[in-house]
Amino acid sequence: MIKIDKGEAPAFLRDLKKKGLSYRDLPHSPYEHYINVLRKQLLSEQHGLCGYCCREVSLNNSHNEHMKAQKGYNNKTLEYNNIIASCNHENTCGKKKHGDCSDIVYPTREDCEQQFEFNEFDGSIHGTTDLANHTVDVLNLNEPSLCEARVHTLYGIAWSSYQDVYDQCYKESLPQWLHYADIVRYVLREYKNNWQAFQQTFRGLYNNV
Ligand SMILES: [Zn+2]
Repeated sequence: MIKIDKGEAPAFLRDLKKKGLSYRDLPHSPYEHYINVLRKQLLSEQHGLCGYCCREVSLNNSHNEHMKAQKGYNNKTLEYNNIIASCNHENTCGKKKHGDCSDIVYPTREDCEQQFEFNEFDGSIHGTTDLANHTVDVLNLNEPSLCEARVHTLYGIAWSSYQDVYDQCYKESLPQWLHYADIVRYVLREYKNNWQAFQQTFRGLYNNV
């Protein structure tokens, strides 16, 4: 999870709210095109990454996710700050959380990145608080293929300089950040003063695969 900086709510959402509509009205004529318009804005704000697991997503394999479930917050379904783009993986993130109204660490929270740590060798994620550990369970962020994909991403960046990698997951002007930018940011923090050690370790692991 990386911090999402929410921009201004699109005008059409404000208009729909004024009309007393809810998100449930969006799939119906004449509003249905707003679903994709909204998601394009979300994906651009998130640099093309799932708001929960940070895998790379596009318009066709993501959905508009209400962080606080719609059923618990009927009057807030058009609240822009409550909507992010989530991947469509059947067993993680928004689809896994579906209908769960318990509180989790949201990626709009200022300190959300400090709430998690990773094991860079097996790709697992761990909370630094009870709420963060609950979040890992609710979103199933230790799903095996997800952990594996994180480690593969680290192999991939072990050939790049610290600055290159940094730019690829922090530079605001980039439309697309490195996938799994959350574990990448974590190793950037952990190996800040010893990037060479990271490179050597991960190049060595790659050679042994
Ligand atoms: Zn996801």
